[in-house]
Amino acid sequence: MTGKVTLVGAGPGDPGLLTIKGREALAQAEVVVYDALVGEQVLAMMPESAEKIDVGKRASHHTVPQEGINEILLQKALEGKNVVRLKGGDPFVFGRGGEELEKLAEHGVPFEVVPGVTSAIAAAAYAGIPVTHRDCCSSLHIITGHARAGKPLSIDFEALRRTGGTLVFLMGVTAMPMIVDGLLKAGMPPETPAAMVESGTTPRQRKCLATLGTLPEKAAEMGIHSPAIIIVGRVCALSEQFDWFDSLPLKGREIVVTRPRERAGTLCSKLRALGADVLEYPCIETVPILPCPAIDAAIGRLGDYEWLCFTSPAGVKFFHERLDALGLDARALGGVKLAVIGTGTAKELTMHGLRYDLMPQDVYDAEHLGAALAGAARSKVLIARAEVASPELTKALDGAGIAYDDVAIYRTVYASPRSDELRARLYTGGKLCVTFTSASTVRGFVSSLGEGAPMGNVTGLCIGRQSAECAESYGIKTLISQKATIDELVRLAVNKLN
Ligand code: SAH
Repeated sequence: MTGKVTLVGAGPGDPGLLTIKGREALAQAEVVVYDALVGEQVLAMMPESAEKIDVGKRASHHTVPQEGINEILLQKALEGKNVVRLKGGDPFVFGRGGEELEKLAEHGVPFEVVPGVTSAIAAAAYAGIPVTHRDCCSSLHIITGHARAGKPLSIDFEALRRTGGTLVFLMGVTAMPMIVDGLLKAGMPPETPAAMVESGTTPRQRKCLATLGTLPEKAAEMGIHSPAIIIVGRVCALSEQFDWFDSLPLKGREIVVTRPRERAGTLCSKLRALGADVLEYPCIETVPILPCPAIDAAIGRLGDYEWLCFTSPAGVKFFHERLDALGLDARALGGVKLAVIGTGTAKELTMHGLRYDLMPQDVYDAEHLGAALAGAARSKVLIARAEVASPELTKALDGAGIAYDDVAIYRTVYASPRSDELRARLYTGGKLCVTFTSASTVRGFVSSLGEGAPMGNVTGLCIGRQSAECAESYGIKTLISQKATIDELVRLAVNKLN
């Protein structure tokens, strides 16, 4: 049976600007054919199982010609695949989407189109430029500034000038001086406000505000390069007043996030929402210890315990996986009280329909949990946590003479993606700002780069004293959040990195 091709606009870069329908189509894709302009984080949403075909490697000269792309789409669909053709911005705004559909239509291959947010409008908006504004203009024109090699631009500049509308040029970085020249020669005043926005809607966005007369010089000074849009019109003068994106507190600040991939979501999105350039570096991963006779036995005698204690969301998750594997559910915990180290762990409990009975008051670490539990417990405690864990918790229980079983149900493995890139940066004197949400993320980070790497170039944003002490032991400079929560860590970044 013939498959289907969905032409999806990926938006201009900010992954939040991919439409819901686009995201759903992407999640269903068996094959994704994508371009150079699709944002990195949108690409990260491609299903792991999908075949991924990059037809737009820009740096090399291996871009697949249009005819080749049309052919790939056709072939994959004829093989019965559910194909998503992912294109930067909107697929029909200078995206050659139509050409791709022609071929499919000729062969009777079904297709759908999911429009996208075009850079022509969004990059301007992120630069504080509304492409239309009541008092400034009554039309908007999107023009290609692409010039065939050695040929003059075929743009009717006089007609454009007469419209009095906002002009947005795509693919015009190289031809920009010619475009400006054309408009000036057509009689547009040199003092007309103009701007360029490079890598719009991404943390690397840069804008060049000028007038038509000064744009070539200013853009050259800043070294503005592709992809960038050129905007000409009075609306550009509103940019400073409406400049919201550049004023975000972490705009352009690079922050490395070391959490395991499945837990990084909230931290990354909170940092990104504040403008940070987040580099996801999931150097640790938690895996259940299987088989785990110790936890199975403990679950078998849950009635013996007064307390069940969790020190991380992973502990809660893997404990419930064991319960499930043993044919049990949350009801098995009916007779036991629940202690958690902090709000993240508490939240994971609520996902399993459970509330905690005890959480340390202000400081979310093993020592404070131990102290609280030592005060509350009358009889035996079951602790389900990581293989390598803080001795502070059991020390407190020992001190109070409380019996416990400390069972390792998961371990941390250190993965090291992109480590070459980061190591090279540290060795060449580059500075890195890195978040550490546990001592194990510190160990994961250090072991992924090798202990010999110049850790003095790293500033650690640490969620608590324990991660900070661990970081300091490797020579990492540290900043410590007031409380061990993601929100406080984000607040720390905002307060201390500016
Ligand atoms: N279909 C796309 C445009 C493709 S043409 C869209 O709707 O956005 C490629 C041109 O788009 C680039 O040369 C540049 O002018 C513009 N462009 C794409 N992404 C951009 C971005 N993030 N910031 C600025 N310009 C961008």
